Amino acid sequence: MRVLAIGECMAEMAPGTQPDEFRLGFAGDTFNTAWYLAMLSSKAEVSYFTAVGDDALSTRMVQVIADGGIDTRHIQMLPGKSVGLYMISLDNGERSFSYWRGQSAARLLARDASALDAAIASAELVYVSGITLAILDAQGRATLLGAMQNARRAGKRVAFDPNLRVHLWDSPAQMTETIMHAAACCDIALPSFEDEARWFGDSDAEATLERYSKAGAGTVIVKNGSDPVLYRDAGTDGSVSVRPLTSVVDTTAAGDSFNAAIFAGLAAELPINTSIEQACSLAGQVVQGKGALVPISLEFLDQLA
Ligand code: ADP
Repeated sequence: MRVLAIGECMAEMAPGTQPDEFRLGFAGDTFNTAWYLAMLSSKAEVSYFTAVGDDALSTRMVQVIADGGIDTRHIQMLPGKSVGLYMISLDNGERSFSYWRGQSAARLLARDASALDAAIASAELVYVSGITLAILDAQGRATLLGAMQNARRAGKRVAFDPNLRVHLWDSPAQMTETIMHAAACCDIALPSFEDEARWFGDSDAEATLERYSKAGAGTVIVKNGSDPVLYRDAGTDGSVSVRPLTSVVDTTAAGDSFNAAIFAGLAAELPINTSIEQACSLAGQVVQGKGALVPISLEFLDQLA
């Protein structure tokens, strides 16, 4: 299965061992999913669609993406631009983030509609998140939403994780409207209940399931932290319980890795509940490690391989 993930990867400066020492890494929601998927699945060919600049940091990012076993041929290089950057600060174990993403080339990823169409043409599953939409200008958003619709009409599967980040949008209303527009352009919706409850007022995970189902997604999977995952797939409803963990270290990329396992399950043609069980197993490992890209044991994930 050929998978195209579309979005922004950022440079990350994470605290090192000495004060004022930082370690350079790379992360970003759709990229994290692509990275886990490429690692997990021999049946998925993963490609990343984004835009970077022509500086040394951009070159390093593309190298790291390629090192993850991800195809970089659809990454556009925009002269004079760079990539977004964030720095993690630690204060008594509490993490806070500073961002520099205004000049990020990824904000222009949908400017060249023909590049987007060409990349989508060679994919069977297209993956977009609410963050991907949030960083674009109005024209870029319209181009991407149109491309999602066209992909669906062409018989491709379109997956969407709303990943609600209100500070990236002009207003909460702009965010919720655009998210539901995207929901109407996807086959597979992968929302997280906590965020959805906050911004859409869903009273429970069933309400989230219903809303995305009504919008038109044939498969809806509602993640809910340590609570059961609810799903609807081709008209069948179910839930999968999450094994409790006592050692949650950092929930960064829990949902992103979960999505990767769902896509690996599609590539392996697993039943949906088996894919969700495997997704919980993977995300359970990811929350026990620091950062977005956690070295994982593939021992209990053999069904996804
Ligand atoms: P997101 O990262 O998108 O907010 P969630 O926090 O809902 O998503 O988590 C996604 C998945 O990660 C959950 O369905 C579950 O499998 C796993 N997970 C997250 N938090 C925990 C936890 N505290 N204990 C066990 N598993 C967890």
